[in-house]
Amino acid sequence: MASVQSFCSCNQSCIRIRRTCVRRDRIGSTRCSIKCPSGEVSNLDGEECGKRRLRMLIAGGGIGGLVLALAAKHRGYEVKVLEKDLSAVRGEGRHRGPIQLLSSALAVLKAIDENVGNQIMEAGCVTGNRTNGLADGLTGEWFTKFDLLTPASKKGLPVTLVICRMALQDILVNAVGSDILRNKSKVVDFTQEPGKVRVVLENGQHYYGDILIGADGIWSEVRSKLFGKQEAKYSGYTCYSGLTNYVPPYIDTIGYRVFLGLNQYFVASDVGHGKMQWYAFHGEPPSSTNILDNKKKRLMDLFGNWCNEVITLISETPEHMILQRDIYDRDIIDTWGIGRVTLLGDAAHPMQPNLGQGGCSAIEDCYQLILELDKVSKHGFDDRKQDEVISALRRYEKKRVSRVKILHAASRMASKMLANYQPYIDFPLSVCSQNLPIKHPGIHVVRALLHFTFPHFITWMIEGHG
Ligand SMILES: Cc1cc2nc3c(=O)[nH]c(=O)nc-3n(C[C@H](O)[C@H](O)[C@H](O)COP(=O)(O)OP(=O)(O)OC[C@H]3O[C@@H](n4cnc5c(N)ncnc54)[C@H](O)[C@@H]3O)c2cc1C
Repeated sequence: MASVQSFCSCNQSCIRIRRTCVRRDRIGSTRCSIKCPSGEVSNLDGEECGKRRLRMLIAGGGIGGLVLALAAKHRGYEVKVLEKDLSAVRGEGRHRGPIQLLSSALAVLKAIDENVGNQIMEAGCVTGNRTNGLADGLTGEWFTKFDLLTPASKKGLPVTLVICRMALQDILVNAVGSDILRNKSKVVDFTQEPGKVRVVLENGQHYYGDILIGADGIWSEVRSKLFGKQEAKYSGYTCYSGLTNYVPPYIDTIGYRVFLGLNQYFVASDVGHGKMQWYAFHGEPPSSTNILDNKKKRLMDLFGNWCNEVITLISETPEHMILQRDIYDRDIIDTWGIGRVTLLGDAAHPMQPNLGQGGCSAIEDCYQLILELDKVSKHGFDDRKQDEVISALRRYEKKRVSRVKILHAASRMASKMLANYQPYIDFPLSVCSQNLPIKHPGIHVVRALLHFTFPHFITWMIEGHG
């Protein structure tokens, strides 16, 4: 017989109650009964007396929140995901279109849950086994190509793919389960109290946990409460995205291509199922094009003199399948948390989508966070470990921040460089009457530089976080 201190799992004001464990007649197993004022009894099965499960609250059920919940569930934590609106997640998914998951993120997903990893591989469209790279927007000529396959194969990692965001959400939501995921639960506040964190929802409900993870995206409420409200930074670009039922003739050889131009770029990717996804970025002040109709005409004005591959994709896309949003990020911060609260994914480090690394980084965050928490609570948790769990959160932040900083800076640099992209010499019409593009000598230097450095950078991204 031993004594245990724990919390009940009801969602009202939980009060610590000292109870006595009753040893059951099962070998190696104990059962602790805990009563709370509401009358709820929670039983901790299979844990040693004095130990209980780590209680993790997650604000936000996007990619990061769901992957973390899945990993925490497998560790036996008592986890709750508080999501403000699951249908909005799907709506947003529609707006944002498919997502590319690099080998690094896929490997993490498989490590967290082999079955989920396999479902994602099956639902996705592998692009990493084809040619991918940067091309000139006007001529379509390759600028540099990336090899996503060799570094993945060398490390025995899954090959980069693209998956519909709604399919990804479905797989993760099903694996996490409805007992863990609370929909219509908008987090509006939290307070840190001795030995626990109290999270308040918009509807007045509150939850207690040992730790709170803010995975509530770029407009994170948790981040604002931690560090004060700060304006997001406009990237300088608005983004049109389109999904079209069109299979181009190069489908078997090219996975995705980024077409470059001065102050604008166009990303085209095979997303499987006979569809192509594209993103057209254009540098302009925020909210300057609030066009509801005729986005296609606007795009033709912007990209009409580009190569055939670009023009065809725009023409093949029905007007209602074109959406527009301004792109924001935030300055990187070195510390993501205070006390028993930390941030993850876009809440911690929102970045521009140029490298397709925001979602992948959120997934990598989950892995590191779970590794650090494992050191504290692998064999159960108890109240003497409260300081250790706080240190684990700080270690997680410290271990993730340098990699994320590089990705964040590279994403910003990529769009800034395009503001000066000038591959051709600008002759007055009288000198070059046929308007033939003549290459700027500097472009050869840039190309050689990219050719040398980019494969290393891609390999570093693919190999993932440690
Ligand atoms: C055009 C574009 C293309 C992109 N392409 C890629 C790509 O190819 N690959 C890639 O890796 N990344 C890509 N990204 C980035 C990627 O979408 C994000 O980095 C990723 O979605 C971040 O995941 P997250 O879980 O941190 O946040 P989110 O996906 O934003 O999820 C946050 C969740 O929190 C919920 N929430 C918000 N506030 C609250 C609250 N107060 N209470 C409760 N819940 C709340 C939201 O409803 C949402 O479900 C792209 C981004 C854009 C804009």
